[in-house]
Amino acid sequence: MREQTLAIHAGYTKDEQGTMAVPIYQTTAYEFRDTTHAANLFELKELGNIYTRLMNPTTDVFEKRFAALEKGVAGVGTASGMAAIFYAIANVAKAGDNIIVAKQVYGGTTTLTGHTIKRFGIETRYFNVNNPSEIEALVDDKTKIILFESITNPSIAIADFDAIVEIANRHNIITCVDNTVATPIYCNPLTLGCDIVVHSTSKYTTGQGLAIGGIIVERENLVEKIKDNPRYSHFNEPDDSYHGLVYSDLPLPLFTLRVRLALLRDLGATPSPFNSWLYIQGLETLPLRMKQHSSSALAIAKFLEAHPQVKKVNYPGLKSNSNYHLAQKYFPKGQSGLLSFEVDTLEMAKRISDATEIFKIVVNIGDSKSIITHPASTTHQQLSAQELVEAGIPAGLIRLSVGLEDTEDLIEDLEKALGQQ
Ligand code: PLP
Repeated sequence: MREQTLAIHAGYTKDEQGTMAVPIYQTTAYEFRDTTHAANLFELKELGNIYTRLMNPTTDVFEKRFAALEKGVAGVGTASGMAAIFYAIANVAKAGDNIIVAKQVYGGTTTLTGHTIKRFGIETRYFNVNNPSEIEALVDDKTKIILFESITNPSIAIADFDAIVEIANRHNIITCVDNTVATPIYCNPLTLGCDIVVHSTSKYTTGQGLAIGGIIVERENLVEKIKDNPRYSHFNEPDDSYHGLVYSDLPLPLFTLRVRLALLRDLGATPSPFNSWLYIQGLETLPLRMKQHSSSALAIAKFLEAHPQVKKVNYPGLKSNSNYHLAQKYFPKGQSGLLSFEVDTLEMAKRISDATEIFKIVVNIGDSKSIITHPASTTHQQLSAQELVEAGIPAGLIRLSVGLEDTEDLIEDLEKALGQQ
């Protein structure tokens, strides 16, 4: 099936009620047929519902549908995008290990990797996403994952997948891509050789800024990389917390299974069934919405590029952009709805943000309503001056999340705000 059909039907098999819309299974727990059934489920002899912290039938549809769109084999929903990123890391790294992360990532990912997990004894080594060869020198036998964004937020750079995957595969290291900005509509990292995809479903998935959530999707046959790989010995040795289960021996997608059985069990950042239902509604129209987000963003990028008050526009669909060739290679159908542009000073950036009417000052992206953000004073405020430079965030940088309003209205709004400077 093709993308738009999957977005509407994948993962849902109707029960005897025949409900066209996916039902919301708003429940904490599930009745077992008898004690043997209960024991079988706990021992994974049978697969089925146990408790909503681990799984839920509405969330299951969302996970299957999202995995289908990402061309992956299985997904596990989480309560936020940050939980998805943390679980992807925690699933492979322990104290004493290190992970390799692109410098140009969402601010929360920078604080998570640079500060919070440091307190858990996990070291983060950073590379410049525009220069993936830097990864080579950072790898050692304790390296557990390489994490980067397909389109970076907010510097809007594009990852060179081939270069990163080549190094990762040579060293047998799992690659994890935050594909939030690109969405599965414009990029499927798993088909480009990556192993794991994470998303904040708080963005384009709901499409209307309705709920906080995340998902992890794994590629088919990831077991081949993990089986007998000394980097991932905990997947190959008995898990004492789960009756001696050896994940790499199971005929199941093992990465997301371990997130579910170990991390959701013990840490519990599970999506609510209602939020999963919202993501399902959002996914139905995702391919259609992304076309409009993307074409509008390109038109706005072209307008800004020609404006005398604008120093620089970051949008990989522009021919002048240094990532244009990578965009054509990896995102030929469109480059999504996020762009950033630079004006002279922090004060001017703030004045422009204050002057727009349709673009609202909000720290979110991927909403049907257009958003203007000044990263240096908001999303990336906790970063040091050095971290800001490394993340590619000058003080005068303004980020736009282009919504679904009329493109001409959006251009006029920006024209007016820039004209007041
Ligand atoms: N990844 C990216 C690229 C993001 O933009 C965000 C949030 O803005 C996140 C992850 C974190 O997601 P959440 O807010 O759902 O925790």
